Amino acid sequence: MEIKRLDSLQTLVSLCKRRGFVFQSSEIYGGLNSCWDYGPLGVELKWNIKQAWWKSMTQRRDVVGLDASILMHPNVWKASGHVDNFSDPLVDCKDCKARIRADHLEEKVCPNCGSKNLTEPRDFNLMFKTYMGPVAEAGNEVYLRPETAQGIFVNFENVATSMRMKVPFGIAQIGKSFRNEITPGNFIFRTREFEQMEMQYFVTPGTDTDFFDNWKQTRWDFYKSLGLNMENLRFHPHGPTELAHYAKQAEDIQYKLPIGWQELEGIHNRTDFDLTQHQNLSGKKLEYFDQAENKKYVPYVIETAVGCDRLLLTVLCDAYREEVTNKDGKEDVRVVLGFHPSLAPVQVAVLPLSKKPELQEVCFRIDDELRGSGYKVQYDESQSIGKRYRRQDEIGTPLCVTVDFDSLEDKQVTVRHRDSMDQERVGQDQLVAYVKKSLHGMQG
Ligand code: ATP
Repeated sequence: MEIKRLDSLQTLVSLCKRRGFVFQSSEIYGGLNSCWDYGPLGVELKWNIKQAWWKSMTQRRDVVGLDASILMHPNVWKASGHVDNFSDPLVDCKDCKARIRADHLEEKVCPNCGSKNLTEPRDFNLMFKTYMGPVAEAGNEVYLRPETAQGIFVNFENVATSMRMKVPFGIAQIGKSFRNEITPGNFIFRTREFEQMEMQYFVTPGTDTDFFDNWKQTRWDFYKSLGLNMENLRFHPHGPTELAHYAKQAEDIQYKLPIGWQELEGIHNRTDFDLTQHQNLSGKKLEYFDQAENKKYVPYVIETAVGCDRLLLTVLCDAYREEVTNKDGKEDVRVVLGFHPSLAPVQVAVLPLSKKPELQEVCFRIDDELRGSGYKVQYDESQSIGKRYRRQDEIGTPLCVTVDFDSLEDKQVTVRHRDSMDQERVGQDQLVAYVKKSLHGMQG
């Protein structure tokens, strides 16, 4: 058997549409560039990813959660540097009018039409602007947040005081961010509206380098726990020209997607830049009083920031495989999404061998029992059983439970495993325990 990995995002885009993971936004109107909607399976997958991240970040004594609003006081973005610095250098092609990011131009040639007639680079601010209240006029302008991090910084004092947190501690948040990207694309890799999972960890100055290294390891282990192929992940330290204006040290975790090695997550040492900026502009003290040391200081911050949509794309690419076999000179391709069982949008499929009511009745009982035990279940009775197995393989369902006519007599069902395709007869009264053991076993 030959195993083929995903070699083009286009293959994934069609699978995602066909099977209800991701649809183009406003498709019936011709779509809206770079905006995507998550379908029934996509939303489950995204939810599972967020839960995995949230659990890994907040089920520890030193990190708490937050959900800040998307619209914030405009001064937040002055203090953070986004009004002045959050821009990409943009070049216009005078012939075909294409707009290209100057830092993406390999040669001084328009990638769209080949013209050399390009403008000098100009800065283009990536923040979306809107107006608060009924009158669209200067003074009422607000921005859609381009990152969730600032909601954490401006709540530093609130969280530290209300929760009596002691440095070192962290604040984690999941939420939507918006960037008017010049060149969005590659499916959900770069979009103008996306979800971020960010954590800011506040530390005593001088301990920041050690905590930076600790978080690098913790984040690496997180990806391992999701069952990703670790040979497709690597760290990419930022050189001096890549460092953001606020960062002392930064490393990306990159993943080898079909479009090459790309940033999945950024880990930054933001120093005391953000808290100091907010302290200066708001006039409110954002210092921490260290009782043990009897001194006040503005903490340093280690940030971990990953895009939820980008991780979802990574998980899909990582899980995708085609198993190619040759049977009697005929090629057969089995498409499998080999999700980690905790991420699979459907964990167990319940399938009657035929549409007969007596089989349906047993299936519904099993379906209810599994759902009641907390598993994500799908009932499917249409088409042949072989086709239904293949469909479940393609959406990454680890286990299929088939109810046949023997099941009515011997009170057993057939459980089929996604990866090995092995089938086993299991007593109906043992099924929940069997599912639990099998899914747990797959987690490695
Ligand atoms: P880039 O250089 O690719 O524009 P960045 O370095 O500005 O990204 P950060 O500001 O560090 O990105 O954002 C943290 C994470 O948020 C990124 O690692 C990525 O996973 C995600 N992210 C950033 N921009 C987008 C986007 N336009 N679409 C989807 N995810 C994004």
